[in-house]
Amino acid sequence: MKSSLKIVMVGAPGSGKGTQASRMTKELNIPHISTGEIFREYIANKHPLGNKIKEFIDQGALVPDDVVLEIVSDRIGREDCKRGFIFDGFPRTLEQANALEQVSQIDYVINLDVPEERLMDRLTGRRTCKFCKHISHVSIIGDSMICPDCGGELTIRADDVPETVRKRLEVYESQTKPIIDFYRQRGKLIDVNSDQAPDKVFSDILEALGETC
Ligand code: AMP
Repeated sequence: MKSSLKIVMVGAPGSGKGTQASRMTKELNIPHISTGEIFREYIANKHPLGNKIKEFIDQGALVPDDVVLEIVSDRIGREDCKRGFIFDGFPRTLEQANALEQVSQIDYVINLDVPEERLMDRLTGRRTCKFCKHISHVSIIGDSMICPDCGGELTIRADDVPETVRKRLEVYESQTKPIIDFYRQRGKLIDVNSDQAPDKVFSDILEALGETC
């Protein structure tokens, strides 16, 4: 295994990037960097940029590249990223992917593939723990709003409502999907079928990384 491992998780909203990245961070012992999660913390903590960011997120639109890039370059400059990191939800545009290449060389890009027709149900049924951020689904927990992992309170993300989900899926198609070819052309892409049980997706990812690392 290399001394540093830099991974990008790509895939549509609801493809399981957050779920898989939070398992990989424990397995690989490198930080999980979710730009969406950083933004939600900015909003919750009333950061000066929070209100501006919230407007974009609430509309299902992307936060402007300059804002994203400043936050990301600050984050990967920290000590805990010396051995690498796992990006979840970044890059989301070709501009971001190009800018990332200027500051860091990514080793692997894991593309979580889920049929488009499954995404609406996966997102609108998603429940996120306020405390440990564990992601669950109504098909598993029913009406319960108690986290099966830590017993904390579950919430429905404000942008997981059908109208905003539709917009986010459109934005993914038009602005984010092109980065899949960007990384495929650079020989970095690993395709993983994410329309399977999370345990199986996780073992497929580890197997694919094990073969290439
Ligand atoms: P996520 O938690 O990855 O689903 O992100 C939630 C929302 O945060 C997205 O719908 C965007 O509005 C915003 N966001 C997250 N990451 C990025 C990014 N790399 N570029 C632009 N906007 C982002």
